[in-house]
Amino acid sequence: MSLIVLKFGGTSVATPERVLKAAQRLVDYREQGHKVVAVVSAMGKSTDDLLALAREVNPKPPARELDVLLTTGELVSMSILAMAVAALGHKAKSFTGHQAGIVTTTRHNKAQISQIKADRLEQALAEGYIVVVAGFQGVTKQGDITTLGRGGSDTSAVALAAALKADLCEIYSDVDGIYTADPRIVPRAKKLNSISYEEMLELSAGGSSVLQMRAVEFARNFRVTLCCRSAFSDNPGTLIKEEAVEQAIVSGITYDNSEAKITIRGVPDKVGIAADVFDAIAKANINVDIIVQNISEHGFTDISFTAPEGDLDRLRPVLDAQVAKLGAREYLINEKVTKLSLVGAGLRTNPGIAAKMFKVLSKNGINIEMISTSAIRISVIINPKHSELAQQALHTAFDLDSTQIFEEDNLSAEELDAKAKKGR
Ligand code: ASP
Ligand code: MG
Repeated sequence: MSLIVLKFGGTSVATPERVLKAAQRLVDYREQGHKVVAVVSAMGKSTDDLLALAREVNPKPPARELDVLLTTGELVSMSILAMAVAALGHKAKSFTGHQAGIVTTTRHNKAQISQIKADRLEQALAEGYIVVVAGFQGVTKQGDITTLGRGGSDTSAVALAAALKADLCEIYSDVDGIYTADPRIVPRAKKLNSISYEEMLELSAGGSSVLQMRAVEFARNFRVTLCCRSAFSDNPGTLIKEEAVEQAIVSGITYDNSEAKITIRGVPDKVGIAADVFDAIAKANINVDIIVQNISEHGFTDISFTAPEGDLDRLRPVLDAQVAKLGAREYLINEKVTKLSLVGAGLRTNPGIAAKMFKVLSKNGINIEMISTSAIRISVIINPKHSELAQQALHTAFDLDSTQIFEEDNLSAEELDAKAKKGR
């Protein structure tokens, strides 16, 4: 007997048909003798709807109240899923994050799980219940309700899998698994059978939204085997674990259009300037990614860096203050940049990869504005108008192309429901 955690994303529980399909998966595992825990996202796009509702009454809703509102989406899906299991003749019990003992930090809207007191869940499992837990939510030590950031149900699922020492954590969504590139942009992208934690972390950091990055960190730290698979088929999906089975030099290409490039010009080149600037930015809780400082000329230098576009409103006042304080000339913001990343464990031992990447881009007339690397990733900042061409060219150059061309299902909601029904 194993313990299996199944996480269902919003599209996987968007309609009653799909909820019943999810319930059937839970029941099938239970009937095979496993202990079963489901973690659910809010149905369909209901988190977006709740956010929109909040903004209609207050463009900047107080974070504490917003958290309470947003958690209601998952309360709907957890109770509905438990009812669906009951309709299939099995025992199920749903739990809010609070009831499930998920304790978080106090940072509303972006809280982190600090502890899981899983006794109630363990007891329900021991009593033979299928356990259903609301994803994306927790509670602070003081008893305030929190959420874990968009896509946070992934993290709820993996953290629960770690706390309960699950044998497997399956992540169900509308995609088949992890691909070598975004198949909508690179139609010859291949689905990977497996990928290592560290490569998946770099893909998530590079912009892949298949899994929330915190979830991958949890999985790596606690050695939780993950499987990303489709809720609409029985295809095996992609395993994420310690070592991938196939070991290509480059495992995947990913991109992120949500970063902006900022340049502070004419900064006096003195000891402690970078420390000052980035300390002020960190205090505003903004994550800076790629940083480039030019060599100084006549005692002045330029500093460029990237930061999330969504944080620009908070960044501007910080930069205004810093430019004045340091006596820098000005700062410029380029809101439209693309970060493109090449990820692969083989980069560590194959020195020519960066050179080859730059050559492919130059052959296609694509200018590189910034570069950063880690042991297993090379990222470049380029103009978004070249993003698709760059991804396709790199995919081909690094021999990732599949012999088959990906065809997006483009199924309507009704067709997806029918597919869910057929699988039952
Ligand atoms: N419902 C939340 C969101 O839309 C959490 C999740 O789906 O993971 O971000
Ligand atoms: Mg998600």
